[in-house]
Amino acid sequence: MGRIIGIDLGTTNSLVAFTDAETRQPRCLPDPQGRTLLPSVVSLDSAGAMVVGWPAWEGLLHQSQRSVYSVKRLMGRGVEDVQEELKLFPFRVAPDSQSVIKIELGEPGTAQKTLTPPEVSAFILRELKRRAEQFFGEEVTRAVITVPAYFNDAQRQATKDAGRIAGLEVERLVNEPTAASLAYGLDKHQRALIAVYDFGGGTFDISLLQLEEGLFKVLSTNGDTHLGGDDIDNLFAEKIGQEIQAQFGVKVSASPDLYQSLRRTLIAAKHELSQQDATTIRFKLEGKGEYTRALSREEFEGWIAPIVERTLGPCKRALRDAGLKPEQIDEVVLVGGSTRLPLVRRRVQELFGRKPHCELNPDEVVALGAAVQAHILEGGVTDMLLLDVTPLSLGIETMGGAVAKIIPRNATIPASASEMFTTYVDNQTGVDIQVVQGERELVKDCRSLARFTLKVPPQPAGLPRVEVKFLIDANGILSVAARDLRTGQEHTVEVKPSYGLSDDEVERMILESIEHAEVDFAATQLIGVRNDAETILRATTGALAGEQAQELSAEELRRIEAARAALQEAMGSDDHRLIRERLEELNQATHNLAELLMNTAVRAAVKGKRPDEVSL
Ligand code: ADP
Ligand code: MG
Repeated sequence: MGRIIGIDLGTTNSLVAFTDAETRQPRCLPDPQGRTLLPSVVSLDSAGAMVVGWPAWEGLLHQSQRSVYSVKRLMGRGVEDVQEELKLFPFRVAPDSQSVIKIELGEPGTAQKTLTPPEVSAFILRELKRRAEQFFGEEVTRAVITVPAYFNDAQRQATKDAGRIAGLEVERLVNEPTAASLAYGLDKHQRALIAVYDFGGGTFDISLLQLEEGLFKVLSTNGDTHLGGDDIDNLFAEKIGQEIQAQFGVKVSASPDLYQSLRRTLIAAKHELSQQDATTIRFKLEGKGEYTRALSREEFEGWIAPIVERTLGPCKRALRDAGLKPEQIDEVVLVGGSTRLPLVRRRVQELFGRKPHCELNPDEVVALGAAVQAHILEGGVTDMLLLDVTPLSLGIETMGGAVAKIIPRNATIPASASEMFTTYVDNQTGVDIQVVQGERELVKDCRSLARFTLKVPPQPAGLPRVEVKFLIDANGILSVAARDLRTGQEHTVEVKPSYGLSDDEVERMILESIEHAEVDFAATQLIGVRNDAETILRATTGALAGEQAQELSAEELRRIEAARAALQEAMGSDDHRLIRERLEELNQATHNLAELLMNTAVRAAVKGKRPDEVSL
């Protein structure tokens, strides 16, 4: 059967983790540079190959037309659902996007590609799969993937589709807050009430969990699918953008590249303000000078307070749903990079009246929990049971456009429930059933998941007895069965979410990805190695000009120069192996020199940094 990896497929960053069978400890797998985070960014290079993760993130700045980020926001959603969000993205959505969003990459006239959100996510998953395979030295085909608690059926399906396209058997989708509670090993407690507060890049989730003798139960979940660090960044960019416009007459948001560049500068400033009381923002405007501004944490917090405040309403609603008061919560767990903001920590502490947990790295917690769940599924742990809840009520349309709820929100899953229906017109030959999801009373205010007709023999109104049965599996995915109790006719209907890929489409994408896998892999390698090579070439040139170089022997300098020239020459080829080889040789040759330079920033500039920490 093989091992199962745990994946946090995040809006901003994704990670892969596994549980060490001996220590029973989960850990995140690093890339060859030692970074556990993989930016959830995918781009198309000018030769038509896909680039994933760091190189794509690095290219974002200059290739905003060719890159996709935050694609998780688009997963399983329709074009109308995401109009507001699309305004903030530089990438285009194909005008013919009917049931599934199609993202167009590349400028007209150059290499172009159209991808659905699950296909984009599949590139990220494939990269993580590859990272795990390199680590284990064997093929990995099974995974647990986490999703926000708020993900509806269509979004969960889209995530599963992404896994399949990437060649992964998705053994289980786990809600992110549930995974986080697992990572904290909360099953060790006898009993406790726990609040998991997850404030990431694109989503906010609050979950209230109950622990009893090693058994987790999610009492309630709440949150906002459109609230996260991205919103802070957008607001920040808007504020500073206004100041720049007033001062320099430049409208930054009019140029995608400039806007991305400003955003990046401000993200770095935001992170700094989590560590220190003040920072200075500097932003160069070509030909117009430089925008410079000192910003205190206090002023920044004044700006973002309304966003942080928006997380508190869902917290209160989750408490109300669970019938709990804040003081009844025993433990509060912080998850997601945005919980590093001191203001967030203060507000959470105030609300719950206790200091929240933040011992584990808030970026890694969810992936670690996914690895714990994976280990349970592998059979490594037999004494743990996990219960989850459905985030939104599910029901069907009844007369007059009202909703009959069949499975209420926050029901423990797997769940099933049934309800009896009949006809209201004589001699009806079919019963129309519309499956809806949401909390509102009228169908028009809920989300339509599916519509189908159950055939019934003509009878007087009110006579047919039709049982509609809903089943939600452990992944939170719904299937609906309808049965005519008089005829015994049963009709099981696969509920296809309104915004999803058909099985045929998924099959085609899997095939395509296999066909192109080799090419994409080589192309990604090539870009990665070229970036690395450029860095070392630059560093070497700089170092040779510096005074430390004078401490080297003439012989050693000759060796370095030869290796440098060899790498420079290899850069002209498309052979990533050759470039890597020469790069290693130059690395070897410059070993002494590097040692001498250890204290200078040259070589450290690109090593082991988080995406947002590298300021450009
Ligand atoms: P997601 O789960 O949505 O992928 P993460 O948990 O990785 O997101 O969090 C990413 C968000 O956390 C980004 O908006 C990033 O700017 C923010 N973040 C990371 N570190 C810090 C920090 N030190 N201060 C404030 N925000 C941070
Ligand atoms: Mg997250």
